[in-house]
Amino acid sequence: MTASAAWTARDAAAVWHPFTQHSTWTGDRPVVVDRAEGPWLIDVDGRRYLDGVSSLWTTTLGHGHPDINAAITAQLAKLDHSTFLGTTHTPGIELSEALIALAPKGNGPELTKVFYAGDGSSAVEAALKIAYQYSTQTGHSRPKFVRLDQAYHGDTLGAVAVGGHDLFHQAYKPLLLDTIGVPSPGDRALGPDRNAIAEAALRSVMGEHGAQVCAIIVEPMIQGAAGMLDYDAQFLRTARELADAHGALLIFDEVATGFARTGRMWAAEHAGVTPDLLTCGKGITGGYLPLSAVLAAEHVYEAFLTRPGDSAPRTFFHGHTYTANPLCCAAALANLRVMGEQDVTGQAARLGERLAKLLEPLGSNDNVLEIRQLGTMIGVEVAPVGDRTGFAVCQAARDRGVWLRPLGNTVVLMPPLTLGDDETDLLVNALAEAIDEVA
Ligand code: PLP
Repeated sequence: MTASAAWTARDAAAVWHPFTQHSTWTGDRPVVVDRAEGPWLIDVDGRRYLDGVSSLWTTTLGHGHPDINAAITAQLAKLDHSTFLGTTHTPGIELSEALIALAPKGNGPELTKVFYAGDGSSAVEAALKIAYQYSTQTGHSRPKFVRLDQAYHGDTLGAVAVGGHDLFHQAYKPLLLDTIGVPSPGDRALGPDRNAIAEAALRSVMGEHGAQVCAIIVEPMIQGAAGMLDYDAQFLRTARELADAHGALLIFDEVATGFARTGRMWAAEHAGVTPDLLTCGKGITGGYLPLSAVLAAEHVYEAFLTRPGDSAPRTFFHGHTYTANPLCCAAALANLRVMGEQDVTGQAARLGERLAKLLEPLGSNDNVLEIRQLGTMIGVEVAPVGDRTGFAVCQAARDRGVWLRPLGNTVVLMPPLTLGDDETDLLVNALAEAIDEVA
């Protein structure tokens, strides 16, 4: 018995994995990862896999980066954890300053305050609560959120409520907040006018319900977990205009798109628009430790400050035990430093262009329905042949030493932003061969 098989059996006996159907888990031959180097995962039998999805879209600089490792170790020697409730610490302060300096600029408010959370979902959860409380503290209660169909913002109940991905969210519908869905401007089923259709729908929803809406929440420029549905920047400009016109906040969820993933530091920069609240996570620490944040505009923060004559506290009664854990903040600071020193945003833009060129021939492959891409966020939608075609393609790629994950029949490529040319060639060649094998 191989080490992988033995560990898989023990795993099956004791572990419940996320988003996993355990009746097929062992048959799907899970990879038992033992260690990682740069863009490579190495399993307990010593097999190497190119990490084509950066773990779960996180490992932007590759694994084992010496600067991030050193920053975590140095921080560990000084301070492992100290609550952010009543005390503060230098890595948390420095990271907030760095994030504010990096925040997107454009039409909309400046983002001037940072609230920390532990993962993307909990950042979204905090942003939703901030938006609702902002409405009650600046005028009247506005209990509705406007969201895009097929959206994915995480798995906590608030985040699920503003999601619209039926496979993940349908089962929980009776538990959810009141939200209004708008067709996604990236939804190909709407045809070539999809951006205009979605904009018109957003105008109509805000026209009818605007006074009840505390926030519009979107993944800017591309809906990742929906299957990499990219869309026109104009939709975000319209969303900014409508939020302002109706006194609602605009939330950009940059958990997937942030930290140069789309070839710019923020997806918001493609549209030249800033939101009132921006959620980020995943790549914030380079993928090393769990951390996320909500960047907030000053006018939002100010609505939470006590004023003379207040009858109720304006405090944001929200936070977690590990909010702004110093190790996570130190990892994030090191990541941002490396990103700046090595122009990782420029590297990501160039990698995106190279991938687009290498993937071009696949566009005319009969087994490929569409290739969607913004920077290094890529979805290759394959024609279905039987059940779980996307999964079968990923398994075939894995047999060629490349680790990929599908979203339905869309195979996702989201490699480390610093991927070298040879590895980029391997990634695309393995995918092309895998598609031909499965077709
Ligand atoms: N928001 C977006 C846009 C995401 O893509 C994700 C995760 O994929 C989340 C939120 C949830 O993040 P997490 O899985 O860290 O809770």
